[in-house]
Amino acid sequence: MTALTSALTARFADRIYINRPLAPLTTFKVGGPADLLFDAHSSAEILEALTLARAAGVSVTMLGGGSNVLVGDRGIRGLVIRPRAGAISAVGDRLVRVDAAITINGLVRWTINRGAGGLEAWAGTPGTVGGAIYGNAHWQRVNIGDLVDCVRLAKPDGTELQVPADRMEFDYDKSRLKRTGEVVLWVAFRVTPGRDPAALRLVARASLAFRKRTQPLESPTAGCIFMNPDPAIDRVPNGMPASAGALIDRAGQKGTSIGGAHVSRTHANFFINDGCATAADIRALIERCRHAVQSQYGVTLREEIVYLGEF
Ligand SMILES: Cc1cc2nc3c(=O)[nH]c(=O)nc-3n(C[C@H](O)[C@H](O)[C@H](O)COP(=O)(O)OP(=O)(O)OC[C@H]3O[C@@H](n4cnc5c(N)ncnc54)[C@H](O)[C@@H]3O)c2cc1C
Repeated sequence: MTALTSALTARFADRIYINRPLAPLTTFKVGGPADLLFDAHSSAEILEALTLARAAGVSVTMLGGGSNVLVGDRGIRGLVIRPRAGAISAVGDRLVRVDAAITINGLVRWTINRGAGGLEAWAGTPGTVGGAIYGNAHWQRVNIGDLVDCVRLAKPDGTELQVPADRMEFDYDKSRLKRTGEVVLWVAFRVTPGRDPAALRLVARASLAFRKRTQPLESPTAGCIFMNPDPAIDRVPNGMPASAGALIDRAGQKGTSIGGAHVSRTHANFFINDGCATAADIRALIERCRHAVQSQYGVTLREEIVYLGEF
């Protein structure tokens, strides 16, 4: 670890942080420190950090916008790489290439301003392109993977490969990255050229308004805690919607709390940090909701959020 710290500090002194608290870097605002945090400004820097970490035998964790993670109270051992800067560019008029660090909202704004259609409904989705690809983010029954042409990845050893969308193993809340530990460097999205920016802006505004009505956006949350049940493997009782939020609500858990965390009254699949929650409080609330739904409806909910670090 010391050798890696020295090597990274020698190269990127002002963007290497030792024992850095991660809570402020997540939307849940909980979690302990990273042994070492690196704010990467390009794909080349991510590759260099991966190579150095591999040579030093140090584990690497990626952190995007921190909007879909619960970081443990004891923090993350090893190196955390946070892609923090990048670029967006047009490749012809039907593809947009975007670095992993770019936020979904930044990408939406860029495409709307250029009359490139396809991503406008994603306005208001927190987080980065890298995080969205990892979990195949979804919005109104569309998965972001459906819009992808190809993804440039880094293997954990720092070598690169380009993967077409049909080899990304995209599925609901799933991509191959969950299996391989590969890292997103950049993504090429398919867009429709020649759209009227004003019309695209209306779609974006409608998405934002819908989110505002249905999600507790003013509070520290990590979005949906659980995936919705999968009709192929879960037996949801007749008459019950295949929705994790509805099941938690009907199991009587809406508004309930443990420590500094409670189940949102606006959307029961969103848990809220009241300001003093620990990761342990949130984990305990997750287990209580899972148990309540399991015992009352026989459905075992699975997490959509990702646990990082030590609890
Ligand atoms: C208010 C709110 C609303 C939300 N609404 C939605 C929604 O409508 N639809 C939806 O799908 N999600 C939603 N989410 C969840 C979240 O916004 C998405 O999952 C988002 O895509 C996560 O991106 P991120 O950059 O924050 O990833 P993070 O939370 O930082 O990381 C998530 C996972 O991705 C990995 N990762 C991050 N960057 C990379 C990279 N470059 N390469 C490889 N792995 C990487 C991390 O290691 C981690 O395992 C919502 C969250 C909030 C707080």
